[in-house]
Amino acid sequence: MTDLSVANSASAAAFDVEAVRRDFPILSQQVNGKPLVYLDNGASAQKPVAVLDAMDRYYREMHSNVHRGAHTLGDRATAAFEGARETVRNFVNAASTREIIWTRGTTEAINLVANGLAPRLKSGDEILVSHMEHHANIVPWQMIAERTGAKVVPIQVTPEGELDLDSFNSLLNDRTRILAITHVSNVLGTVNPVAPLIEQAKKRGILTLIDGAQAVPHFKPDVQALGCDFYVFSSHKLFGPTGIGVLYGKAQLLEEMPPYQGGGEMIERVSFERTTWNVLPYKFEAGTPAIAEAVGLGAAIDYLDSLDRGAMEAAEKALLERANQLVETVPGMEIIGTAANKVPVMSFKIAGLHPSDIGTLLDQQGIAIRTGHHCAMPLMDFYGVPGTARASFAFYNTLDEVDKLFTGLQKIQRLFA
Ligand code: PLP
Repeated sequence: MTDLSVANSASAAAFDVEAVRRDFPILSQQVNGKPLVYLDNGASAQKPVAVLDAMDRYYREMHSNVHRGAHTLGDRATAAFEGARETVRNFVNAASTREIIWTRGTTEAINLVANGLAPRLKSGDEILVSHMEHHANIVPWQMIAERTGAKVVPIQVTPEGELDLDSFNSLLNDRTRILAITHVSNVLGTVNPVAPLIEQAKKRGILTLIDGAQAVPHFKPDVQALGCDFYVFSSHKLFGPTGIGVLYGKAQLLEEMPPYQGGGEMIERVSFERTTWNVLPYKFEAGTPAIAEAVGLGAAIDYLDSLDRGAMEAAEKALLERANQLVETVPGMEIIGTAANKVPVMSFKIAGLHPSDIGTLLDQQGIAIRTGHHCAMPLMDFYGVPGTARASFAFYNTLDEVDKLFTGLQKIQRLFA
């Protein structure tokens, strides 16, 4: 057995990971007879008791429909729901809750923006995305491009998995209308330098959307400092419930955009002659919303705020460092995505092994990772692979779990490669 002893980083010691793990009941179970090692956080993260309790309490004590104002439960539900919106506003540092729209997730948020911006697009216009986007930040734009005659143009990535800034600069032109890029790659873990790109786009009057789905579990975005027009993310990757996500948009743009869906709540007045829209943010929130889920997301953010961010980020960095140090202990293992600035996400391949076999064999050892194309087929094509294996870490993962992953990989490599 290869020696896995790598010195613990001193910074990681400041973060009491064992105490944090007790907040996540799902982590302390056996899977296939082994203690669960959950390294699929990029797909969906686990939920702390604070989130479970907040949703339970909401249903036990205050559930009703929101914004009806007719009775006490309705007022309680509305206060909890709008309180969560304020929590999100504060989390992303938006200027106003009018700029925080609830969606079903990142995917719906991007579809909403793409549809809302469609009337601004005409034949020949260009929408700049990147080669490392999740399908959620490619396909909605392709659908809008088909409707309007615009074109979706990808910024190239470098072999290390960074945005190719020369490619970005050469693609910017007078036809570019929208820049839609990911803050953090779900496959590579790369943190993209979005601020200077947004600045350059703004100078040319190009609208900007940042896909924050993989960023928010690792750091807080500041939408005003970034200066982006739109910022989107999903609750379930941020330790909150599924079924809800967030669209931040600049109020002026949201005002100008047509509604996405029609129905209750999003209207001011309906008549067969003329229907008018509700004010922001409700104009984009047709129908009864995911109330308990909003409350759960608010609780997830409150929980994260109760942790020491600096220590948490240092602990995550230590996990990635340890994983990087151990790569050489698995013969034939190659990391895909070696950018200088990364969150703890590690895509890899092992010579002679199919990624899905790696996933299945690790699962037998209680270790959950993700395998496949990760909804990023263009990036798989770029690297010439059908898929990768991906371990994505969260702050509640331990150095011991990183070791277990590599012990598992060593075993699989020895027996099957
Ligand atoms: N964008 C990125 C970078 C992602 O990683 C994901 C999910 O994996 C999405 C968008 C889509 O998120 P959702 O399925 O929650 O809408």
